[in-house]
Amino acid sequence: MLKAGIVGLPNVGKSTLFNALTRSRKAEAANYPFCTIDPNVGVVVVPDERAYVLKGIAKTNVVVPAAIEFVDIAGLVAGASKGEGLGNKFLANIRETDAIVHVVRCFVDDDIIHTMGAVDPVRDIEVITTELVLADLDAVEKRLSKTQKLAKGGDKDAAAEFALLERLQPHLNQGKPANVLPDTTDDEKKLLQFFQLLSAKPVIYACNVAEGDLATAEENPFVKQVAAFVKAHHDAAYVPISAHIEAELIDLSAEEAKEFLKDLGVSDSGVSQLIKGTYNLLGLQTYFTAGEKEVRCWTIKKGWKAPQAAGVIHTDFEKGFIKAEVVAYDDLTRLGSTAAARDAGKYRIEGKEYVFQDGDVVLFRFNN
Ligand code: GDP
Repeated sequence: MLKAGIVGLPNVGKSTLFNALTRSRKAEAANYPFCTIDPNVGVVVVPDERAYVLKGIAKTNVVVPAAIEFVDIAGLVAGASKGEGLGNKFLANIRETDAIVHVVRCFVDDDIIHTMGAVDPVRDIEVITTELVLADLDAVEKRLSKTQKLAKGGDKDAAAEFALLERLQPHLNQGKPANVLPDTTDDEKKLLQFFQLLSAKPVIYACNVAEGDLATAEENPFVKQVAAFVKAHHDAAYVPISAHIEAELIDLSAEEAKEFLKDLGVSDSGVSQLIKGTYNLLGLQTYFTAGEKEVRCWTIKKGWKAPQAAGVIHTDFEKGFIKAEVVAYDDLTRLGSTAAARDAGKYRIEGKEYVFQDGDVVLFRFNN
């Protein structure tokens, strides 16, 4: 399962967001047993209304949504890369994630101390980013001397690695994250991931705004600052959220929640957008299996071919792949049934070279 780490300075709303997320969305995530050993890990489902439409067509009562694991990486402070706070432990936790959700404070509240003084989300982003970059610089320097020796010995892979590290070191030294290293080839991007660099991970900034500001968040001066910052950096995205609104949803029934959100002029606390944004940032998409037993959402990368996509269900599906019977979600829902889709020529038989599309509804045929 995809793993996203929640980071940010103290008092920006990380724990509020994490606790609210994992409690208010617990019912939806019932199919994913909670990690009871580690209270800092929670499973949150990826909202996808299409699964519920398919439920009606497949005549089943069960929907198993896709899910993301969120890890609360609290306590990252300036100096973490030098072991301040519980620095090294936190950095190691981040290393294990696929993406970073970086919460920045965009609400003003004099009762809640801002550890850096006034509210300034771009400065906060830079403080945390600096810690990640410094930790990476350490790792890169260690790796440089090792690969240099191997490269000199004639190892071609080491030579390619060394060339990249030599460009990376001065870049990190300027305080810039690895994910904005210019002119990287696809192979080099893979290497950056392979190095497990913290600042090479995709980032989404969650701008935590005051409850009353969510409906007009794009006009919030702090959110605007983050938007301008993100525009200047690729491999980043931002979403306004309200951790407080999400927290208030915990004890409300579905009806009450709807009414409460309506009064605030929003349809969600921003969290659905945050989850979808994380999904997009990572280049992920969904396909469905739909039968009497259940409708199930499966997560794959964009561009994956049929056998690889089948492999997320079971490795046997990938190994023994024969063909996939595929109907696009739009065709199936427009026509109303598999039989009607077949009559309309929209039910396709696809082979090994077929590239999966978002929303494909699929039945696999395989040898076992
Ligand atoms: P963390 O240190 O980043 O995990 O921050 P917490 O989630 O513990 O929040 C710190 C304090 O800020 C708590 O008292 C929260 O209730 C408060 N807080 C979080 N989000 C908001 C918000 O949107 N508005 C206001 N006024 N307070 C918030």
